[in-house]
Amino acid sequence: MLIVQKFGGTSVGDLDRIANVAKRVSATKKEGNDVIVVVSAMSGETNKLVGYAENFSKNPSKAEMDMLLSSGERVTASLLSIALNEMGHKTVAMTGRKAGIITDDSHTKARIEEINPEVMRANIQEGRIIVVAGFQGVNYAGDITTLGRGGSDLSAVAIAGAIGADLCEIYTDVSGIYTTDPRIEPKAKKLDKISYDEMLELASLGAKVLQNRSVEMAKKLNVNLVTRTSFSNEEGTLITKEENIMEAPLVSGIALDRNQARISLIGVIDKPGIASDIFNRLAEAEVNIDVIIQNKAQDGTTNIDFTVPVAELNDAKSVVDAFVAKGDIKDDSYNENICKVSVVGVGMKSHAGVAARAFSTMAENNININMISTSEIKVSMVIDEKYAELAVRGLHATYELDK
Ligand code: ADP
Ligand code: ASP
Ligand code: MG
Repeated sequence: MLIVQKFGGTSVGDLDRIANVAKRVSATKKEGNDVIVVVSAMSGETNKLVGYAENFSKNPSKAEMDMLLSSGERVTASLLSIALNEMGHKTVAMTGRKAGIITDDSHTKARIEEINPEVMRANIQEGRIIVVAGFQGVNYAGDITTLGRGGSDLSAVAIAGAIGADLCEIYTDVSGIYTTDPRIEPKAKKLDKISYDEMLELASLGAKVLQNRSVEMAKKLNVNLVTRTSFSNEEGTLITKEENIMEAPLVSGIALDRNQARISLIGVIDKPGIASDIFNRLAEAEVNIDVIIQNKAQDGTTNIDFTVPVAELNDAKSVVDAFVAKGDIKDDSYNENICKVSVVGVGMKSHAGVAARAFSTMAENNININMISTSEIKVSMVIDEKYAELAVRGLHATYELDK
């Protein structure tokens, strides 16, 4: 088999853990498999580098950030390759460029445009274990780009898809996908299987166990994806097509996203095209908008509230400031102390009342709901951040996910 194994930050968090990873990879190779390994930076390393840059600038150049942040993964890739080589394997460490990962120009959250796996293929043919530095690629001009936080998951899935691997294993610090973050609700249960769509919702709504774009890619390329722990041999969770799951539960999980901020636009001039104008400008600035609500104010203007990822707040503010300066918006305010809790399940498609039970749970816990958004398979609520854990545990109990 050709297997892609991705090891996250905690799994390569120190030299002993890298040695442990080397043993696991070596065993996989000795069983007769071809192996491509994708590694993250040591845990905490990327944040440390971000902090270094912030020491010099509130708004550092995104191209320079990519030069900086991509270095963490190169450290672990080369160390793991050296360790495996010492164990008697033929190995090669690769940057994103050498692995043939080409992206667009969107620094710090680049999208993969293509992967040219020829160099990887040739090295596999020669019996080498390939260790790829995750989270990075190059644009067509040859500049280093990174794939967004948590992006090593995407590197792994995209490589698995491009090279036609039989399996893509994501090794992390929990033994699979749980009904909610087990660090928030210790009663959370591990799922044996989950559909691509549900996993995509959970990941997009804040469950950082898999980067959302990696799940999107896995679904598109039909990658056999398994999440498991690097600390034991416990079986993990298979992420697969919905039809492979016999009995879809009503609700499969609760997600929490703390990295959201709320933007309130007060006194927006009421004329056709204004919303389109504002949101088009935000899109051009590559700000991802989530929940939106709009309502009429007394004086004939409107108020528009929406949420954005905290990391994109600065970009959003610049756009809004321009409208305030023009007089199209009277006032604006920002709140980072919010979070979004979401209930996800494909079973919702055919059952009524799921959302109502979520709202009742908030009421029972005296939690005020600020914003609501729903889709076929999820209900999201924006609430005060201080109630995050209470809300997650309450919802987990309401849908009996601990049973
Ligand atoms: P890595 O460094 O290996 O990429 P991450 O920290 O990115 O690991 O993701 C693993 C973490 O995701 C877990 O430690 C856990 O706290 C969190 N998590 C959030 N939601 C879930 C969930 N539904 N199931 C499992 N883990 C979850
Ligand atoms: N090191 C990067 C991050 O912390 C990428 C990753 O770990 O997947 O976001
Ligand atoms: Mg991760």
